[in-house]
Amino acid sequence: MKSLPSASELQALVDNTYQQFHALPGGENASYIPYLASVPSDLAALVIVTATGDIFQAGDCEYSFAIESISKVATLALLMEDVGPETVREKIGAEPTGLPFNSVLALCEHQDKPLSPLVNAGAMASVSLLKADSPEERWQRILDMQRRITTGKLTLSEEINQSEQTTNFHNRGIAWLLYAAGNCFCDPMEACEVYTRQCSTLVTCRDLAVMAATLANLGENPVSGEQVMSAENVAPLLAEMTMEGLYDYSGDWAFEVGLPGKSGVGGGLLAVAPGKLGIAAFSPPLDESGNSVRGQRMIAEVAKALNLNIYR
Ligand code: GLN
Repeated sequence: MKSLPSASELQALVDNTYQQFHALPGGENASYIPYLASVPSDLAALVIVTATGDIFQAGDCEYSFAIESISKVATLALLMEDVGPETVREKIGAEPTGLPFNSVLALCEHQDKPLSPLVNAGAMASVSLLKADSPEERWQRILDMQRRITTGKLTLSEEINQSEQTTNFHNRGIAWLLYAAGNCFCDPMEACEVYTRQCSTLVTCRDLAVMAATLANLGENPVSGEQVMSAENVAPLLAEMTMEGLYDYSGDWAFEVGLPGKSGVGGGLLAVAPGKLGIAAFSPPLDESGNSVRGQRMIAEVAKALNLNIYR
């Protein structure tokens, strides 16, 4: 394996890529969650964290934004620890839906089985399958994993949580469909409520890059030194990300960039170069699939410059 460029070269790459693409036009903030519509659209950040814990960053890296769907990665990591990847595959799935992240049609076509833990239905099923005796324990275990897989400081935003809990009617409908089909493993409103909370924690772009670097480093957080998940669960987790991490754009993303990734409607996006590094980008305007327009471009450019495509 070719080694990475020097630290100064990596920093220059991050600076130049950020400069070139942080104001790329196109896309719009998510608006179905009122809070997200109010986030300034011109924010942008780009961060690389290597598998040895070196950090290279540019832009609004200290700005805290809603983790949203990227929370699904931490919950899936925890669930794989609880029940093992094969049970996740059997009860939730490992296939792309080819449809939007909150699609009811995707459920209807498959007897209300979610297919992927990285769409809303599968994420609520994942929450419901975690080992927990109470809603509070379910939530605390998720928050704890979010902290361990990033940099330890994440908190719930009451403002975002309120904004989501009072508007998440579509997700509640999905949770009931899952429950009716035997694919929700706790009270469906508990699954939806805890899932909504897990989407409402605040992260920085650097937190997301540490999460990506932890997956690049076989589950050992390179900043804290903690093994946060079993090394053998990383490959199936990355496979799930390849299939559905950018929703109905995942195939194109694999084709163009060739790295497992995960996006959130808060504008965050991360990608994993196994054994090498994690990259994260943030910028609120989204394309039609719900993926950050500038984030995709910045990560694609870094991946190309460093020749990171795993299929090459
Ligand atoms: N909280 C959002 C939702 O459930 C997360 C979706 C996303 O980031 N794609 O709709």
